[in-house]
Order: sequence, then C-alpha cells, then structure tokens
Amino acid sequence: MKYIMTLDQGTTSSRCILFDLNGSAAAMAQREFTQYFPQPGWVEHDPEEIWDTTLAVSREAMFNAGARPEDIVAIGITNQRETTVLWEKTSGRPVANAIVWQCRRTSKIIDKLVQDGAGDMIREKTGLVPDAYFSASKIKWLLDTVPGARKMADNGELLFGTIDSWLIWKLTGGKAHVTDYTNASRTMLFNIEELRWDTDLLKLLDIPECILPEVKPSSCVYGYSVRELYGGEIPIAGAAGDQQSALFGQCCFLPGEMKNTYGTGCFLLMNTGSERVRSKNGLVTSIAVGYQDHVEYALEGSIFTAGSAVQWLRDELSIIPTASDSERIACSVADTAGAYIVPAFTGLGAPYWKQDARGVITGVTRGFSRAHLVRATLESLAYQTHDIVRAMERDAKMDITALRVDGGASANNFLMQFQADILNADVIRPEYIETTALGAAYLAGLAMGVWSGTAEIRSLRASDQVFKSAMAAEKREELLKGWQKAVRCALVD
Ligand code: ADP
Repeated sequence: MKYIMTLDQGTTSSRCILFDLNGSAAAMAQREFTQYFPQPGWVEHDPEEIWDTTLAVSREAMFNAGARPEDIVAIGITNQRETTVLWEKTSGRPVANAIVWQCRRTSKIIDKLVQDGAGDMIREKTGLVPDAYFSASKIKWLLDTVPGARKMADNGELLFGTIDSWLIWKLTGGKAHVTDYTNASRTMLFNIEELRWDTDLLKLLDIPECILPEVKPSSCVYGYSVRELYGGEIPIAGAAGDQQSALFGQCCFLPGEMKNTYGTGCFLLMNTGSERVRSKNGLVTSIAVGYQDHVEYALEGSIFTAGSAVQWLRDELSIIPTASDSERIACSVADTAGAYIVPAFTGLGAPYWKQDARGVITGVTRGFSRAHLVRATLESLAYQTHDIVRAMERDAKMDITALRVDGGASANNFLMQFQADILNADVIRPEYIETTALGAAYLAGLAMGVWSGTAEIRSLRASDQVFKSAMAAEKREELLKGWQKAVRCALVD
C-alpha cells in the first residue's frame, strides 16, 4: 500500500491524514495545541509545540495505517495562513512565539502605513487590503520588539517563515528555507504579478530580504525529511495555505469555479485563472496555486460570523442543544415569519466592510418563535454567501453556475438547499469534506507523478451531492429584498 501524507497544520490543532493513491483517507491523527492570549486581542502559538504536535500526529497516523517510510510517496503541507515565525538560522530556536493571523497587535503599524498613503501601493502590488492579519506587520513588530532581533536579521542570522516554511525547515533538518506562492501571497510583501518579494514594500516596513524564504511552486519537491524523523527520507512535494488548498482539493481548477468553506466564519475563493482580477467590491486577490511553471489567481472574500452564529444560538441563547439540531428545528417551520437576522457581531466584511456594524434582528412579529430565529440564523449564512458570490461575479465578469462547499456547517442539508435556492445555482457537496487536506495531497501527488494531471484528479472524486435551486424567481427576489433592508439596518450608525 502506498500513501501520500498530508500535514494539516490548523489554528487550533495539528492533523495528519494518510491518503491512498485514489485520494481516499486511510488513517488520521489529530492533536490540539495551546493558544496563548497574552493581552486582549493578541494571539500566539509556540512554534516548537506546533512542530512537536505535527511530528507526533504524523508518526501516529503512520502507526495507525501500519505504514513504513518507504510506503509514503510524498508529504504535502497545508497550513494556517499568515501566522509568523522568526527563528535563529544556526540553532533553529524561535526568537519568540509565533504571532497568529488573528492577532491584532500590529493594527497601529497598518494605520500608519495607510495614513502615509501606502494603501494603494499595497493593494496594487500584493492584491490585499492593508491589514494586521497578514504577515508583514507581524514581522516588523518582532524585529522592532524582540531584543537583538533586528541586529541578527541584518547580519543574516534570522529566518522568517509562515507555518509551511517552518515545518519544511524542521522536516529537512534546516536544509530548505522555502515557501510556496499561495503562502507568499498572504504575507503582504509579495508582488503577485512579478512573482517576487517586493523591494519597495520591504523598504517601507524595514524588513531585510535575507530573512525571507525562497518562493517555489505549490507542487514541487522542496526537500526530503531527515532520516531520524520517520526512519527514511520522504520527499516534501506540496504546500499551500489552507484556503487555497481547499480550493484545489475541491477541484476548482478552471476560471469561475469556486468554493465556500462554512466553518466558524466562511471563506469563499474563486479561481480566476492566469489573469489577476482587481476587485471593485472589497474582495482580495491572492495566488490560488503555483503549478507547472505558472500561477493562477483567486478572488477571496470572507464572512466573519457564520458557524459561530449557530454556536451563539447554542451557547448564549441556549435555544438549540447542538449545532446539528439547528437543521431539524429550522425545518419545523415553513419560513422565518418575515424576520431576518444579520449576525454582524464583529462588524461586516466583504462586500460591505463596516467594522463597527453590529447585529440586528428585523421584522419581528408576535408569532416569531425560537424555530424562526434558528431558521433565520441559518439563512443568514446563505445570504452573506450570496452577497460575496454576486460581488465576485461582478469583479470577475463571470456568472457562476455552481458553488462547491465544505466545512462543518456544510453538513446542514437545510442550509445547503436554501443556499442553492438563494443563489439560483447548484451547490455541490463532496462526499469527503476534508478538502483542505486533500488539496495538499493532490499537489504532492502531482509533483511525484502519481497522477498525470488535474483531469485524472477530477476523475478520482467520489460522487458528490448536488443541491439544485427549487425556488421561484419572484420568491428569491422578495427574500433578497428583505435581506438587503435588514443589512441596511445593521449598517446605520
Ligand atoms: P472551524 O474549522 O472554523 O473550527 P468547522 O469546519 O469545524 O469550523 O465547523 C464548525 C462550525 O460549524 C461551528 O461554528 C458550528 O457551529 C457549525 N456547525 C457544525 N455543524 C453544523 C450543522 N449541522 N449545522 C449548522 N452549523 C453547524
């Protein structure tokens, strides 16, 4: 039996899945690790713990499958994006905890860049909106704050990496300091058209280029794991940030193909092919994949509150016992009795971008019940997704016919049917929803010649469930009108 090993290094846990050469999962292991919140709004991880848990789960998955190192064709990596690690080149010791993508400590650095008029340049070069999420301001903060860090960086004694770089460096025993195009495109330092670290941005943020990893395709051999780790040298042959990996794992290989991951929040990505699309609707552009000597671009939009609104029903309101009960309860009523909830608990993202918007419930009448609220909450995930899909269509000048879905809340059949109805498009749910891990396995397998190309990968897919729109156009328009009115209420100061 031969396998591809995926290391799926997420924000709360490290996982390893061994896939067989048909892309089916054969073994899995997972461990959570510590979240550090040293101050309000700050989030850190210990890079050593990230490495230890990753190594442990990979060994555990091999043990569970009875796999020997020679049975593993390649390792693919997918990772939480943007999270920033700085470590010493010789000792391999991280100089501080990793600053996690969610951490807001560097928002003042971003405010200053924008005040100084750098916003347009950042947008043009990187495809991103200036934000503390991305790695650039986190690197600057570490260099400015950790004693001795800047001097070491200037002397070429420090290395920066996102989590993919850190893991590859550890796996290869310090031989490879690399990243892939998708991860590089989320640093806010990478010129996504010239495909190189941008010297103007590096100067602006005072970051020496010598600390940055070499940027490579998402599907290529980066190096080999050192023998001590698994008892054999295994090629590391694929890497992509988690959302891009899910896009690839969903087989969104063609322009216009898109996926939505329904987790705590939602992440929508649309493949726009080899042409970069500039958004006029508040979406960001990143690299979808670097593959076979070219890169493809993606438009990306995120929804801050999605599955977490279902958690709110469960934990704060105590009106559903578990998240999955939301489906049964929503289906116990025919509609929301004319009510809408806009769960703007932490502001509204694309395409509205109003950080200080707050949640509203509109259209409440005497007959409004618990079941109506549950239904309206689920529907709000579909409406928010609708708004981003329409924005993507306008930006990319393409009409979408299908949305591929994954993530925890995509298990909800009511939500998926309502999504198809409101979008008037097919909603396609794969049988195997661990698409993030699958994408990295595909990338690694392609580099090793396990599969001939994306056409063969597409043929491996198990049967999908397709939800088709069954709603009359007038009904859809009426519902959307009500939603837009509710959004306006959430947007007023
Ligand atoms: P994350 O990766 O962001 O932690 P997951 O993909 O594991 O998220 O999905 C978990 C989220 O999905 C939770 O916010 C939960 O409330 C929601 N969720 C899980 N199952 C369902 C369901 N059947 N219906 C609606 N929401 C669900």
